[in-house]
Amino acid sequence: MAVAKELMNHRDGSKRRYKPTTSKKEAKAAQMKLHNVFRSENLHVRQDCDTIMMPAFQLASRLLWAEPFLDFWHTVFFSSITETPSPKGSKPDTRHFIYSASPPHLTRDQIRQTHQALDLLSSCVVFELNSSPPRSGGGRCKHLRSTPATPPFQGHKSEIQISSYFYNTLSNSAVSAQDKMWLQFELAKTLLHELAHAAVNAARGRASNHFYFFPGEKVAEDGFQLEAFLFGGAITLHREDFQAELRKVKEKKKNGGERGGEVVAPLIEGFRRPWPCREVVEEYEERGSCIGVRGTVLGHGGREGVRFRNVERLFSERFWEEDGGAFGGLGMV
Ligand SMILES: [Zn+2]
Repeated sequence: MAVAKELMNHRDGSKRRYKPTTSKKEAKAAQMKLHNVFRSENLHVRQDCDTIMMPAFQLASRLLWAEPFLDFWHTVFFSSITETPSPKGSKPDTRHFIYSASPPHLTRDQIRQTHQALDLLSSCVVFELNSSPPRSGGGRCKHLRSTPATPPFQGHKSEIQISSYFYNTLSNSAVSAQDKMWLQFELAKTLLHELAHAAVNAARGRASNHFYFFPGEKVAEDGFQLEAFLFGGAITLHREDFQAELRKVKEKKKNGGERGGEVVAPLIEGFRRPWPCREVVEEYEERGSCIGVRGTVLGHGGREGVRFRNVERLFSERFWEEDGGAFGGLGMV
């Protein structure tokens, strides 16, 4: 496809901007800074928002740099697509496209091209980190359809809106270190989920009635597709007890009883469900959000607990120098 070809041709002209993280030394140096998509001019922040959120930006950067996870982005940027008739019952004018399969192992050139395309994506996206999306703790990717993406991308730019819930909770001294780490993980996951949408918007110029399916997949949702690719399913946090405890602390402070410093015991738990799953599709449909579906999507059939220690190690540099950076396999449960 033309976009893919142009991106590949652009490689030589962009060498000054792209630095492949091929050697251990370079990889280590890269870990000291953030991925270019999170460069400071892209982050619309308030106060010390970027400092508070730094662990999430670093984790999201590591997941973008790690070679084992580049297949997803290579498909989004470079795969040829085939339009296929929308199934019966689809909304009028809905158009379905299917990516051709990605090669199982990317070549060195394909890896370089994918890093370069992710680097170029930095000029097509901004992050609003103090937003109020409908759901607490979430994010959304706003299409800026009247703002063309930077060539050679042929689509449009995006604004990623991240709920102010993250800033407010991560800067709350009553929250335990463990729960903050769960929330940093969720923030990193949200940043990448929305970035997946932004990548499709930039590379493909996705219209609201267009859906891009990975080969063999029944649901087209770029963000969850990436989450499943990274974590082996869709991870959600159970935090009802956590929220209730935070409300109690807030109430006590309002009544003048406590002066901060109270630490809420770790209360957040994480669960993984297979993706795709019918429940998520139904949630989307109830909210009136657009999601592409082909055929019958099964229910999740149970959920697995995510071990905190598996989340914790994602924030360790050593993990990325060894297993994570080299082989992927995040083994969350
Ligand atoms: Zn999404």
